[in-house]
Amino acid sequence: MKLDTLFEKNREWARDIEARTPGFFSRLLQQQSPQYLWIGCSDSRVPANEIVGLLPGELFVHRNVANVVVHSDLNCLSVMEFAIDSLQVKHIMVVGHYGCSGVAAAMQNQRIGIADNWLRHVQDVRNQHREWLYSLPDGPLRLDALCELNVLEQSLNVCQTTVVQDAWARGQEVVVHGWVYGLHNGLINDLRMSVKSPDALAGAYAEALANLHARYAERNGRA
Ligand code: ZN
Repeated sequence: MKLDTLFEKNREWARDIEARTPGFFSRLLQQQSPQYLWIGCSDSRVPANEIVGLLPGELFVHRNVANVVVHSDLNCLSVMEFAIDSLQVKHIMVVGHYGCSGVAAAMQNQRIGIADNWLRHVQDVRNQHREWLYSLPDGPLRLDALCELNVLEQSLNVCQTTVVQDAWARGQEVVVHGWVYGLHNGLINDLRMSVKSPDALAGAYAEALANLHARYAERNGRA
């Protein structure tokens, strides 16, 4: 595809939106008021807005390799602070996806380059759950499980940031969710870890983890 095509498609897209909703862009110019912050993987097959059918202005997005949330990552923390403090988003979703190459590389100790240091955080997740994870057969099932575990742990990290903790302390309504997207069917799987207060965190995590273990025990039994 030539670059010219991209410009053509861009003009078509802008024309379409404006035709369907006259004044769309001029209204958007006045303000953005998304209700959601999406923290997802950079993978080109996981286009945030498109998957959930949201238009420009409706979803605030941060993406990185393997949807990792690290407490010292100023990029991610700045996005979160702006989303919560200024935009007043109501929901933050950490969205992993099955078949994530970043997670696979971490699982297999594959050397890529600089990213190895980033994916070290996913290896920490793997190591933390090593015993259970390695009770599953080597292959897609174990990789799916690590994709989900990574989402649970990164959601936990979101909840523990000063940004979210401060929002909860001042009574601001923010709910943190853990989701996984299926490249194979285009559907989102809710990992049922939705947290809206510090008190609910430990219980929600334990429940989501127990649910995850049960689902994989069943899938493993069937295999
Ligand atoms: Zn990925």
